[in-house]
Amino acid sequence: MSKIKVMDEVLANKIAAGEVVEKCMNVVKELVENSIDAKSDEIKIELVDSGVKKIQVTDNGVGMDKDDAVLAFSRHATSKLLSEDDLFNIASLGFRGEALPSIASVANVHLKTCNGSEGVEVEIDGGTLISVEPADLRRGTSITVSNLFYNTPVRLKYLKNLYTELAHTVDYVEKMALSYPDIKFTLINNDKILLQTDGSGNLLKVIHRIYGLAVSKKMIEIKGENDDYEVSGYISYPEIVKGSRNVLTTLVNGRIIRNTELNKCILDSYHTYIAVDKTPIVVLKINTDPSLIDINIHPTKMDIKFSKMAELKDLITTLITEQLEKLTLIPTIQKEEFVTKEEENHLFESYLEEKKETKEKITFEKPSLEFTYEIKEEEVPYQKQEEEKEEEHERIKKMFPVGLVHGTYIIAENEEGMFVIDQHAANERINYERYLKELGTHEKQVTDLLFPVTIEFPANEFIILKEHFDILERIGISYEEFGMNTLIIRSVPVWLPSSNLEEALRKIFDVIIRTEDFDSYKFSEKVAITLACKMSIKANDHIELSDMEVLLERLRACQNPFTCPHGRPTIITYSKYELEKLFKRAAD
Ligand code: ZN
Ligand code: ZN
Repeated sequence: MSKIKVMDEVLANKIAAGEVVEKCMNVVKELVENSIDAKSDEIKIELVDSGVKKIQVTDNGVGMDKDDAVLAFSRHATSKLLSEDDLFNIASLGFRGEALPSIASVANVHLKTCNGSEGVEVEIDGGTLISVEPADLRRGTSITVSNLFYNTPVRLKYLKNLYTELAHTVDYVEKMALSYPDIKFTLINNDKILLQTDGSGNLLKVIHRIYGLAVSKKMIEIKGENDDYEVSGYISYPEIVKGSRNVLTTLVNGRIIRNTELNKCILDSYHTYIAVDKTPIVVLKINTDPSLIDINIHPTKMDIKFSKMAELKDLITTLITEQLEKLTLIPTIQKEEFVTKEEENHLFESYLEEKKETKEKITFEKPSLEFTYEIKEEEVPYQKQEEEKEEEHERIKKMFPVGLVHGTYIIAENEEGMFVIDQHAANERINYERYLKELGTHEKQVTDLLFPVTIEFPANEFIILKEHFDILERIGISYEEFGMNTLIIRSVPVWLPSSNLEEALRKIFDVIIRTEDFDSYKFSEKVAITLACKMSIKANDHIELSDMEVLLERLRACQNPFTCPHGRPTIITYSKYELEKLFKRAAD
């Protein structure tokens, strides 16, 4: 009787293992989260062959006594709380409990643990308890999982690609390191250190260890709150982007979550600063009252619902756009230099020092600044607005054009350095902002055309267009239907370029025909981007110095002068210092 019961349990565990353990990462996750629950501040993960051969997780947490150590591997013996609310309300990462017995049923597991007064070693093979012995008194727990799925060869097949297995685990450990900057994480595969954090609690240091020096120097700290949410973290300069959404990390009350709406909100905040297929590096920590979130748990994904999503999105958007609008975002040309890991860490430390110093300086000056603003706000609000504009205008200092290279790039200079401007991208940005503004104004100024423009459409397109005639009126285009599929345009908004009127009109009709969503801002934006690209000077169009001067001034006056509406850079710079370094006139 009891034998049957044990068989059942082993079988049940094996079946569960198929669900819980899909990748080596799942085992690592289980063990690491146990270590975190055990209040460890040092966690070492050692893999052999991406974990397929061996996964060992060692921590310095509270450890277990003999009974718990044995019970940990038996099903339904979990001491963890399973209520959904507990996940967010208590420190425990919870909700597993069954994973450890499942893992033990498909591998060889060796556990060594000590709670400070008692040390014990447990060995389990394919779900069968082999031995329980006393062990030494080093506090903490070390679990070794060897030969995963050795007794279920079918599952083993799924673990074939070592590189993919490793990539998942690295990704997971990186995210945990970002979530817990005060835990010292070490990840090793086949004796090679892949990640090592120092547990100092400094999030920027973790970002440095994961993404390197160049990235960590281009991260901006953000911090803010409203009545319901507290948001802090780091966002990257728009020039630092990656091709994968994986670089967006959002933590809610200390837990990693994936929420498409929040990700979209972050990307929208970078809109036109980066290309649509790129993602900035962002680490956001959101803290809130647990009653405002609703947890929807899937074993592999974490998603939650926020009851005040609009407020949260507002806060995030403001925090990001505020920073982006403040920055000078001209990418600098930098010599690639080879440095060792140690040199790099040293460089980063000195960077942190420098940053601390400038921060101190800023805090010192702050009171007087606030004071002046306050007076102005009350007495001469208009002037304040002017002043802010002036300041914004100075995001790029006045530049003087020198000439044109490759018929495409304007070379310009000022006391700070040399600038290279893509004439098409710059013109596109200027036109885009202008068209967008014009499309948004209510009183449309229109020009009656001396020679009306006649445009014929294919029948199917004309049908779609007819459904949206109201849009034409909204833009300020007046028309008459003529014959079957033809429109006669009588007047157009003044801002439409008269030189290429017919082409511009066709572009607008095109957008209308191809748009499904007429949410007014997005539609205006599409029209503005399409027209801006069409109506701007192209590469290889020759322009005179005087034109360049006008173009540069207009670019400087843009709200975002640094990228075209597609997110490509309009301007790059060689700082005076960089030039001197390149020519060895200045010491490094
Ligand atoms: Zn273009
Ligand atoms: Zn563009």
